Amino acid sequence: MTNTILLGCIADDFTGATDLANNLVRTGFRVTQINGVPTKPLSVEADALVIALKSRTITAGQAIEQSLAALHWLQHHGTQQIYFKYCSTFDSTPAGNIGPVSQALMAELKTDFTIATPAFPDNGRTVFKGHLFVGDQLLSDSGMKDHPLTPMRESNLVKVLQDQTSHRVGLVDHKAIAAGSQAISQKFSELRTQGIGMAIVDAVTNEDLITLGRALKGMPLVTAGSGVAIGLAQNFGLTPSAQASALPATSGFKAIVSGSCSLASNRQVAHFKQAGLPSFGIDPTALMQDHADVASLVAQIRQWARPLLNPDNPILVYATADAQTVSRLQQQCDAHLLGGRIEQLLGKVAQDLVEDGVGQLVVAGGETSGACVQALAIEQMQIGPQIDPGVPWCFSQLSSAGPRAGGLHLALKSGNFGTDDFFTKAFKLL
Ligand code: ADP
Repeated sequence: MTNTILLGCIADDFTGATDLANNLVRTGFRVTQINGVPTKPLSVEADALVIALKSRTITAGQAIEQSLAALHWLQHHGTQQIYFKYCSTFDSTPAGNIGPVSQALMAELKTDFTIATPAFPDNGRTVFKGHLFVGDQLLSDSGMKDHPLTPMRESNLVKVLQDQTSHRVGLVDHKAIAAGSQAISQKFSELRTQGIGMAIVDAVTNEDLITLGRALKGMPLVTAGSGVAIGLAQNFGLTPSAQASALPATSGFKAIVSGSCSLASNRQVAHFKQAGLPSFGIDPTALMQDHADVASLVAQIRQWARPLLNPDNPILVYATADAQTVSRLQQQCDAHLLGGRIEQLLGKVAQDLVEDGVGQLVVAGGETSGACVQALAIEQMQIGPQIDPGVPWCFSQLSSAGPRAGGLHLALKSGNFGTDDFFTKAFKLL
C-alpha cells in the first residue's frame, strides 16, 4: 500500500468517474480508476484514486451504503481530501441521490459544511445565480427534461438540493467568485455561521473554477461535477505532465455500444449511420414481456456482428432512441425495469464483442457503461488522452478470467458528451 494518495474520489457512475479522472490527469494528478469498492488495499503509485460506483439511480439507502464503503476504503489509503462526483447536469431523482449521499459523507467525515456545483464550462455546463445552464438553455429546457431515469425539470439547484437534504442549502454567487478566493472563503464562513451546511456555487468559466479551487484547500469534502477538479492540483503543488496520459499500443477490432438516449447520442448514432458504417438497432419491445428472451436477442446480435468486425472501421450496436419513442415505450413498461434489461443486454453484447476480438470499444451512456464494465469484469483502468471534454481513452489490462486475454482500450462516454462525429473520430485518436 502506498501513502501518496492526496485525493480520494467517489463517482456515482462509470462515465462520470472517467470524466473526473480525465480532468485530474490533465492538471497533473496521476490517477487510477477503480470500478466498484475493492475488497483489498491497493498497491499503486497514484496521486488520486477514483472509485466508480453505479449509485445514481439505485435507492438512496443503497447509494449511501456503497458511498460510505468507498469512503472507508479511501480513508484507509490516507487520502487528504474526499471528492464526491456526480453528473454535470445534476442527474438525480426527487429522492436523491446527491443530497442523501453528500449528507452521509459529511456526517462520516464529521464536517458541517461542503459545496455543490456541477459547473463544467468546457462542456457548456455553467451555474449562474444557482441556476444550471446546459449550453444556452436552462437545465429544465434542455434534453435532460426527457431523460429516461432522471428527468431534470427544475434549474434552480438550491431548490433541487434542498428537496434532497435536511441540511440548509445556500448559495455562493458569482459576485463572491469574482471577488476572489479569499472572498469565497469568507462567504463559506458566513454561510456556516448562518447554519447552512451545503452551498451551491456559481461558476461560468474555467477561471472561476481555478479561483474556487484555492478556497477549497483543506475542505474535507468537496461535492461537484468533474469541473471543480481542474482547480485542485494547485493546492497539492502539482503541475500538468504529458506522460500522465500515455497508454499502451492498440490491438483488435473496433466497436461501439450505445444505450444512451441523450440528444448528443442520438445525433452521434445518426452521424455514424449516415457515414454508411454497419449498425444494429435493438428494438426494446422484445425486452418488455415478462419472460423476455434476452439470450436469443444477444445471440442474434453476435451472429450479425461477427462477419462485420474488422481492424479498420467500427461497428455499432445501439438501443438509443429519441424522447418520443422512449416515452411511448415507458407507457407500456416500467422505465427502470426496461432500462435495466437493456443495460443487461448491452453488457452481454459488449462481452461477446470483446470475446470475438474487439480491442477498442466505445460505450455511450453512464448506466450503460456501468453495465458493460461490470460484464467485462474490468476492475482498474489507466486514464489516457482526451477525445472530447469529459471523455478520455482508457486502458484496462483484462484479467485472464475475463472474456479476452490482453488489454482493452475503452472510452466511456456520458450521454450528453462528444461532438456529432464522436463514434468515428474517437478511433482516429488512438
Ligand atoms: P445517459 O448517459 O445518456 O444518461 P444511460 O446509459 O446512463 O445514458 O441511461 C440511459 C438509460 O436508458 C439506460 O438505463 C438504458 O438502458 C435506457 N434505454 C436505452 N435505450 C432505451 C430505449 N430505447 N427505451 C427506453 N430506455 C432505454
